[in-house]
Amino acid sequence: MRKPPSELRPSSLAVLPMGDPLAPVVSSAVARLHAWYRAQARDLPWRRTRDPYAIWVSEVMLQQTQVATVVPYYERWLARFPRVGDLAAADEAEVLRHWQGLGYYRRARHLHQAAQVIVAQHGGSLPRDRVALARLPGVGAYTVAAVLSIADGQALAVVDGNVRRVLARLLALELPPDRGAGAAAIQRRADELLWHADPGLHNQALMELGARICVPRAPRCDVCPLANVCVAQGEGAPERYPTRSPRRVVPHRRLVVAVLVSEGRVLLHQRPYEGLLGGLWDLPTVPLPEADGLNAAAQRQALRTYLRQAFGLTARVGPALEPVPHAFTHLRVTLYPYRCAVAAAAGGALSACSEPQGHRTARWIAWAELGAHALPRATQKVLAQLTPPLT
Ligand code: SF4
Repeated sequence: MRKPPSELRPSSLAVLPMGDPLAPVVSSAVARLHAWYRAQARDLPWRRTRDPYAIWVSEVMLQQTQVATVVPYYERWLARFPRVGDLAAADEAEVLRHWQGLGYYRRARHLHQAAQVIVAQHGGSLPRDRVALARLPGVGAYTVAAVLSIADGQALAVVDGNVRRVLARLLALELPPDRGAGAAAIQRRADELLWHADPGLHNQALMELGARICVPRAPRCDVCPLANVCVAQGEGAPERYPTRSPRRVVPHRRLVVAVLVSEGRVLLHQRPYEGLLGGLWDLPTVPLPEADGLNAAAQRQALRTYLRQAFGLTARVGPALEPVPHAFTHLRVTLYPYRCAVAAAAGGALSACSEPQGHRTARWIAWAELGAHALPRATQKVLAQLTPPLT
């Protein structure tokens, strides 16, 4: 005989078949989750709107970035680009400037490109059709589900990192939940749990629970609305889940950087559009072989050679500035910056303010004009070591 709900073993959620008479226990736990969210949800600017464009912008910004960091960026973005058409019509340099500091700049370029497609092909409104939405640059399954469920009430279950952690613990999933069979199990359970009466609220409630209660370390099971149906909590070891994928070794690269100053201007060049930090303005930077990474003489020589070959400049390499470490998700870098001055330019007398020979994307930029260029965060840290006016 099946136990009554009050004695329900925690593993019930994991084994509960569709149509099981104990389904009401799960339903009531999910209803408690919704009530908790209605009472406790943080008041965030994108939760005060049903505008699909605004929700789309927030979802893209929130990928890989903390909520507290996103809020001011989101508000500035919507003040400058309040509608899709405003974004589509903007210059890419300005779009990147509004993204500066959020990282993963490809997201900003995709938003910009997608806005142009929306204007050209969808009359300036975000498509409400999931297939059409998924065809836009940079829009994946997560964004489709989030935007269409929250803005339009479509029955699509969102699975992000927070939801994955919550469901992996609810199920005590022994597989890594971010790939293969584990990911499929998570998506299946997310679809089954989805509350069709208000999918947007349900999705946001699960994400909020993962962000504030079912956190990676020391989850607050004592106040969790899903505690009575959570297998991991029943086992007494919620932090055992989610099961981790084998750790990848993150490579470390050492780069030497020229802070080349002449007549009060700094030499910057625009990075290629494809690849890391594509389209941003950067200081001349050259990677060092592993063996030479910490050798100052090798660093100086590498800079001199690079500046001559890439920019046609003979440089005097001056004092070293403080090294700047920086981490991407897939890569760690350490920048070794040096103050440099131009000794001679190819083709004759130095004219510091003309473009370096043969380098179409390089410019001498005055300190006061730096703010008009989108720069990588690590480069900003290097430049912050200088004291204007530059000499
Ligand atoms: S009971 Fe604990 S482990 Fe389970 S979902 Fe809630 S916070 Fe997470």
